[in-house]
Amino acid sequence: MVEEISSNLYKIEIPLPKNPLKAINSYVIKNAERNLIIDTGWNQEECMEAMQAGLTELGVDIRKTDFFITHLHADHFGLVSNVMADTSKIYFNQPDADRFRSGFRLDDFVNVARLNGYPENELQKAIHAHPGLKFRASADLAFHILKEGDTLSIGDYGFKCIETPGHTLGHMCLYEPSKKIFVSGDHILNDITPNIQLWFDEWNPLKEYLSSLDKVYEFDIELVLPGHRSIFKNCRGRIQELKHHHQSRLDEIISILEKGSKNAFQVASKMSWDIISDSWDLFPVSQKWFATGEAMAHLKYLKEEGIIRSEVRKQKIVFSLNRNHSI
Ligand SMILES: [Zn+2]
Repeated sequence: MVEEISSNLYKIEIPLPKNPLKAINSYVIKNAERNLIIDTGWNQEECMEAMQAGLTELGVDIRKTDFFITHLHADHFGLVSNVMADTSKIYFNQPDADRFRSGFRLDDFVNVARLNGYPENELQKAIHAHPGLKFRASADLAFHILKEGDTLSIGDYGFKCIETPGHTLGHMCLYEPSKKIFVSGDHILNDITPNIQLWFDEWNPLKEYLSSLDKVYEFDIELVLPGHRSIFKNCRGRIQELKHHHQSRLDEIISILEKGSKNAFQVASKMSWDIISDSWDLFPVSQKWFATGEAMAHLKYLKEEGIIRSEVRKQKIVFSLNRNHSI
């Protein structure tokens, strides 16, 4: 599924089978000297087939092609190790490159999940169903690190690198000021809400995410090329909706904790989700996992704002409302 977006800029839709995201958008900028591919897909067969069919249709020579990856998640990053040539460069951000190098230790995931109330009998299943572990890149990779304000030039396009931490530690977008095109990765999506989760690092992802939204609000943007679903125009309107969404989430968690202290898994089980399922118990394990991570990001934000507090009880982290909270 190849679509021309603007001159020499194309979208290849890469399917993500059996996943609610459905597909990822890979963007290709063709140029006589070097082509650029932005984001790739999971490291698995269907993604590889779709990518190769798209590149064949576009007549892209992979030996003359470099990659820009918006962030570390496997649906954007995973396939790059298999699709690239040994002449390809990978442009990437430093924080996500560091996280890639430090690797994914299953024990770390298990410990954090357990502390946050994830049920023991579903832990192993959740870990093994996690797409980030199943479909990650297969090789040790060398990166060309980009940072805020760097420019990536391909033919008529001069993309400025915009650091937008939140969805991941180092998430990076691209802005083409003369064409007013914004490549948003998973920072701003139109049809679904980007997932903001906290698992490891000592940071406040929701706070970073909200300030990254404010940062992009200032840009003059006519066309947003997101990592998933439809390309759209009204960037500022969408930013306002996303900010509103997170505020409602925070309010929802406060009202959940007003009924008593809970761990993150219990909070997630009481939150409202878009997933079609009769009950929380029937959610697929991987969706419970994402929901718990999302609850943890919001709980961290509320804790840093002084609205809630946490303590360890019976080897679980439990959150309670502070008495004189105000938001
Ligand atoms: Zn994604």
